[in-house]
Amino acid sequence: MIRAFIDREQEMLDAADAIEEGIASGQLQLIPPQPDEDDDTGVTAVEGRLLVRRALARERDPKLRRLKIKQARQGGRPLRCEVCDFDFAQAYGPLGEGYIEVHHVTPLHASGTRSTRLDDLACLCANCHRMCHKNRPGESWRTPDALRALMHTSAPGSAQAASTTAS
Ligand SMILES: [Zn+2]
Ligand SMILES: [Zn+2]
Repeated sequence: MIRAFIDREQEMLDAADAIEEGIASGQLQLIPPQPDEDDDTGVTAVEGRLLVRRALARERDPKLRRLKIKQARQGGRPLRCEVCDFDFAQAYGPLGEGYIEVHHVTPLHASGTRSTRLDDLACLCANCHRMCHKNRPGESWRTPDALRALMHTSAPGSAQAASTTAS
């Protein structure tokens, strides 16, 4: 019991440190709480938000981000969301050129501190990134693969509708 509390407290402190570092270095912008994240469920919600922010702070390591983007663009490939193919440059022109969010596929709170390989990272649009991190009670974060599968099953005829209305 006490052991569990201590572990948890250390995790919270680590999260707070990571957030402060992230803010100090300008790499972490504060994300305003979303309506469905109101913490009337207590510690769990707060912890969830802290963990999301800690993950985002780590994900914004500029070197990793640069390397991952370089890898994704190898051979002149367009920089797209790995889940939904959204292309910021296509949607926003020069403003979106080179923009993508870089996500840890294995949640950092599950893996702990470790050196990240580029294969552990995924390039995602802001929407898919949020959906990967969205925390629901009893559920862990979903992988980009799981999110892609979920999108295809839950958007009725999304792929079909696109192909039939395109003509
Ligand atoms: Zn996406
Ligand atoms: Zn992420």
